Amino acid sequence: MNYDVAIIGGGPAGSTVGTLLRKYNPSLNCLILERETFPREHVGESQLPRIGQILDEMGVWEKVEAANFPIKIGATYRWGASPKLWDFEFLPADKFVDEERPAALVGQRRLTAFQVDRAVYDKILLDHAASMGCEVREGTGVKAIESSGDEVTALVLADGERVTARHYVDASGGAGILRRSLNVEVDIPSSLQNIAFWDYWENAEWAVHIGVGGTKVQVLSLGYGWIWFIPLGPTRTSIGLIVPAEYYKKSGLTPEEVYHRAIQEEPRVRSLIENATPEGEVRRTRDWSFVAKQMVGPNWFLAGESCGFADPILAAGMTLAHVGAQEVAYTILELDRGEHDPEWLRSRYEEAQSKRIRQHVRFADFWYSANGQFTELKEFCASLASEEGLELSADAAFLWLGTGGFLNDKFATAGLGEYSLGAVKGVAELLTQTPATWQINRYNEFQMNLVGATEEEFPMFVQGRIVKQRGYARAGKCLPYAGMCKLVIACLARERRMDRIFEYARASLQRTPGVDDTRAALAEFATTLEALLTEGWVKGKVDKKAPFLSFGRAVGTEGPIKYNESSAEVAR
Ligand SMILES: Cc1cc2nc3c(=O)[nH]c(=O)nc-3n(C[C@H](O)[C@H](O)[C@H](O)COP(=O)(O)OP(=O)(O)OC[C@H]3O[C@@H](n4cnc5c(N)ncnc54)[C@H](O)[C@@H]3O)c2cc1C
Repeated sequence: MNYDVAIIGGGPAGSTVGTLLRKYNPSLNCLILERETFPREHVGESQLPRIGQILDEMGVWEKVEAANFPIKIGATYRWGASPKLWDFEFLPADKFVDEERPAALVGQRRLTAFQVDRAVYDKILLDHAASMGCEVREGTGVKAIESSGDEVTALVLADGERVTARHYVDASGGAGILRRSLNVEVDIPSSLQNIAFWDYWENAEWAVHIGVGGTKVQVLSLGYGWIWFIPLGPTRTSIGLIVPAEYYKKSGLTPEEVYHRAIQEEPRVRSLIENATPEGEVRRTRDWSFVAKQMVGPNWFLAGESCGFADPILAAGMTLAHVGAQEVAYTILELDRGEHDPEWLRSRYEEAQSKRIRQHVRFADFWYSANGQFTELKEFCASLASEEGLELSADAAFLWLGTGGFLNDKFATAGLGEYSLGAVKGVAELLTQTPATWQINRYNEFQMNLVGATEEEFPMFVQGRIVKQRGYARAGKCLPYAGMCKLVIACLARERRMDRIFEYARASLQRTPGVDDTRAALAEFATTLEALLTEGWVKGKVDKKAPFLSFGRAVGTEGPIKYNESSAEVAR
């Protein structure tokens, strides 16, 4: 073999795989083949906080920060039936501590995100992969894949060169060259068929300025579609329009007409671009969600967008790409170490990545179902929900969203895709205009319920190693014995009454190294207990003499939805 690992594509997924492989095993011979010469333009600019952690692990966070990208504190939305704007914040804007840029943002790195100019960002990452010892060949497209059965035997380049490797990674994005060439089928778990139009603008105003370099992206519904407004630097802004493909077809308009008409119809964007000029090239792409049915083979992996795509409304694409790529790197490292069952390693990656993409697709569908004109999708969501015996009330929508489970096996916290449980409830509440209920407020005695569960092992990703983590599985759901879940299990083994459980949890959290904010951690404890209760791992009872908990967003308040419960304002 010429190489240990051959990676097709030098986008965020390819660079993440290559960098982490070389970081943890510098003796690996890694090749990244990229058909373009960087910098090259790419759509998809708004990140989620989870990426900060991975950039940190890759050792590239400082290089990205040095590019002076705006710091994303959250997003402002106008969506659904109400014309009002509402905010979705990763951390409360008034708690964002200002620092001169480039900043260290210690502690805040993992609570905020970047809005990146992809030409610059992807080049930083690819150059970093090269500096870590990956052989990077730009302007070198893979033309064909040679295979025998399900095994890849070589990559064929434009000049006819054959590249062979022990492991192959398809990180070629939407091209999915290896996926297509091996005829891997895809699932289309959504009826959304959208088309996106976008251009870049000079000198648009930022909608908000938060400290030095902080802002919020704007997501503004027009009923028939929506507009994104993402500042990428002090003067450059990405402005895009997403509409159903059918709507565009029927409109009879050119891309330029449909795009500029929408922008002029949106008063907030119109005022932000009063003194701005567009580059004048309206790009377009279709953005149909899909999930590959197979993501691993005997000697190959799909990473990033080649294994699936979820509509951009949740800005999750790059996060899915980085997170999945990180797991591919860890899986290859462990396959080489040979300490774990290879089938277990491969299937765990495929299950986790598939679940993450499906959850995002489902959450995106839910968003659209609440947007005035997407009536077909509303029917689609309602019929999916009713198959599970649900009407789309806030609570029902929430339960429907979490059919894949609300417990995140990676960090053993409660959430859906990349969104915390509190945020998901908040969004369900807002979009359905009915208050969501917290099950934990209904009971005041709690007890574990493991009847019918089997013991299972889950992978934990720790500094280049996959560590087996004990846990339970039942009816397609998993309960990892780690993180907050572990603390809930420990507390319930000791106490049953809600007040005593929380006392015990508070004392444990106060003693836990690295927990700086006990209130925030206690709020996370409560949301984890909620997830365990919703999924049946915990049973609730009522003792009329004991006190009850009152947990949740104060109903009727106008406060912003908190994506991250770090403010603990949810605990009343
Ligand atoms: C309209 C739209 C809006 C989006 N908005 C967001 C957003 O706001 N936030 C977000 O996080 N995500 C967003 N995304 C998704 C995001 O763009 C992708 O998830 C992300 O780029 C995936 O990264 P990747 O590394 O898997 O693939 P890519 O970034 O596409 O990288 C793949 C690379 O492979 C190379 N390649 C392809 N074929 C070959 C070949 N045969 N040989 C060699 N190289 C090859 C390509 O040149 C490319 O550089 C959006 C997507 C769309 C369509």
